[in-house]
Amino acid sequence: MDVYALIGRPVEHSLSPPMHEAGYEATGVDARYVTFEPSSATDAVAAAVDLGVAGLNVTVPFKEEVLPAVEPTERARRVGAVNTVDFATSPPTGDNTDVAGVRRAFEHAGVSLSDVRAVVVGAGGAGRAATAALGESAASVHVANRTLSRAEALVADLDPAVPATLSAGPLSDVDDRIAEADVLVNATSVGMEADETPVPAAALHADLAVLDAVYTPLETRLLRDAAAAGAETVDGAWMLLFQGVAAFERWTGRDAPVDAMNETLRARL
Ligand code: NAP
Repeated sequence: MDVYALIGRPVEHSLSPPMHEAGYEATGVDARYVTFEPSSATDAVAAAVDLGVAGLNVTVPFKEEVLPAVEPTERARRVGAVNTVDFATSPPTGDNTDVAGVRRAFEHAGVSLSDVRAVVVGAGGAGRAATAALGESAASVHVANRTLSRAEALVADLDPAVPATLSAGPLSDVDDRIAEADVLVNATSVGMEADETPVPAAALHADLAVLDAVYTPLETRLLRDAAAAGAETVDGAWMLLFQGVAAFERWTGRDAPVDAMNETLRARL
């Protein structure tokens, strides 16, 4: 039996164990998925090697801290964060499947990311993954963040690595950017704790596709406002699902049973 694990703090209420175990059950993979709250990400990777763990998912606050313990893929290096460790190699490979999570969530909704003008609100880990994902095929990606210097640093890091033209700006002028955009991603945590949105409803329009990375609640105020404006909406559970699907496929070498994993995930949300 293979053992996969999630490290983070807290991980008690994580949806990854049931989602991945639904995948193992549907495909007949003999594996379990467990969670740990280690004190150090590098110690956790060393322990995982000793214990013969087949793969690790990594979440807050360890996504950056784990980098020195792995050989990062080009994608993970670009984003500056690892959420999936594969122990099939030595040293273990550190990937970032949040990038695939964003791309595949849009693809699944039938939204083409080719040559789009995109706006990403937020410049933390999710903002970096979303910018890397959209930057692969968009014409432009504008990153707006409450702390402007963080958006500027993100753009400086990712601009040389992606074909799209990247720019950074404050949240205060995001309305004008959204007016010209085809795609919007909320990669802030706004909407999670309270019924709030990081962008004014009046900025949203019918030619927009909106992904909210927040998945608790599933229907955020941003997505309600976007639907009311006639925009296409993609909830954060799709991103969560597809980052898990990409990890499953990397680890097992099989196509993931997307429907089974999605049903289990949504039943728990
Ligand atoms: P993070 O690194 O802590 O970044 C948080 C971001 O939110 C920063 O850009 C921060 O701006 C912004 N922010 C926080 N409070 C704000 C406020 N009141 N007004 C405006 N901006 C605010 O977090 P993260 O890991 O990127 O996660 C961000 C969100 O994405 C979380 O809700 C997380 O659950 C979600 N997420 C979802 C998935 C998925 O699979 N669906 C994957 C990863 C993350 P400053 O820089 O100014 O502080």
